[in-house]
Amino acid sequence: MSASALSFSTLGLDPTLTQRLDELEYQQPTDIQAAAIPLMLAGEDVMAGAQTGTGKTAAFVLPILQRLIAAKNESLTHSDNTKTPGSDSQINATSSGVKALILVPTRELAQQVHQSVVQYAEHTDISAVMVYGGVSIKAQVTSIQAGVDIIIATPGRLLDHLRNKVMSLSSLQYLVLDEADRMLDMGFKEEIVEVLKRLPKQRQTALFSATLDDQIFRFSQRLLRSPKIVETAKRNSTAAKIIEKVYNLDSERKSALLGHIVNKEPWSQTLVFSRTKQGADKIAAQLTANKISAAPFHADLSQFVRESTLADFKAGKVKVLVATDVAARGLDIEQLDAVVNFELPFKAEDYVHRIGRTGRAGKDGVAVTFLSPDDEALLVALERKLDRRLPQQWYQGFEPDLTKEPALQPRKAKKGSLKQRARQKAIADSARKRK
Ligand code: AMP
Repeated sequence: MSASALSFSTLGLDPTLTQRLDELEYQQPTDIQAAAIPLMLAGEDVMAGAQTGTGKTAAFVLPILQRLIAAKNESLTHSDNTKTPGSDSQINATSSGVKALILVPTRELAQQVHQSVVQYAEHTDISAVMVYGGVSIKAQVTSIQAGVDIIIATPGRLLDHLRNKVMSLSSLQYLVLDEADRMLDMGFKEEIVEVLKRLPKQRQTALFSATLDDQIFRFSQRLLRSPKIVETAKRNSTAAKIIEKVYNLDSERKSALLGHIVNKEPWSQTLVFSRTKQGADKIAAQLTANKISAAPFHADLSQFVRESTLADFKAGKVKVLVATDVAARGLDIEQLDAVVNFELPFKAEDYVHRIGRTGRAGKDGVAVTFLSPDDEALLVALERKLDRRLPQQWYQGFEPDLTKEPALQPRKAKKGSLKQRARQKAIADSARKRK
């Protein structure tokens, strides 16, 4: 059945939740929601390939809320023999303590997932808290000890709490790993394994990941039991509705082209990616010098600065956010018109994550990549991974200087690069002739 024929209630969701989704004007489930929600309601372990922007958060939050509501109703009516849809006799519905844990790679994602939980749980008495580094442990512990149903945590800080015995997850029933690929990339594997040792074996587990590759499959064997696999798009492919453009240009002209494009295009918000924190600072400073409101966004900035920058960006006070891959991971910004890759990322997966920031929930997006000769090898590797070509073009007025020798390159690479430039020139010439 296609997702368009479905409604949230036919997926088996409780009226308390469907009413809320109506208020939020969610008309129908997205593909990942249509695939994952019934499986999670049926108590299956799930392994889902879904990027940010596909509605993945609701795909795991809604069934967990549903099952917690069902368990609470069951415990209220004391009707041990009547099974409420979505409840599970193997799981102790009445025990107190944390019932669900959602592990995420970054605090920004923790905040967004928390926001989603609070939003969807509006008409319920289900509570959620965040646990992440960089903020007072005391406040986190106080709210956990007050009694909470769902914890959204980054692995490191959660492990601190578990080791210090300030909290226990012995009554946990649901575990979600969100953006599992990124957690592994960020080196959280050991921490996750340590957390797993402290969780009950009898639980339901869901793993969400933008890419389902061998590393994820291997890792999943440690934590999922006979998982049902759901994927909304082809492996390693990018979400639909994103127009990708690659502009060949010389690196020293990137800044000027960025300023030009941002001024010319009708984009209200643009997210620019830089490979380094220093690069992000520099790009933002150059835009600001050109009277474009821009701000850097990376891990060297304090939590306070990052939060206020993000708030300014969301409010439209900052037009261009210049972020590193790690910092931008998980950002959920409505109406993101465009993403610009100031350079290509070193890892192909990061390209997929980056461009997934635009074209969100049915809206078209543009993903622009600036390709200078020194990044050509990265483009070749990326195209191999994506299994498709990214058409290259020139931006009028910013064409690369083909007479210039690429500086400081070994002889072999220089020859290859010149060949590539000659090929680009031929492509551009024939495109011009066709016009
Ligand atoms: P996510 O992929 O979880 O980051 O969600 C991306 C955005 O889509 C969020 O802003 C959600 O509020 C929104 N969203 C999720 N599910 C739906 C839906 N079924 N209909 C409309 N918007 C949705």
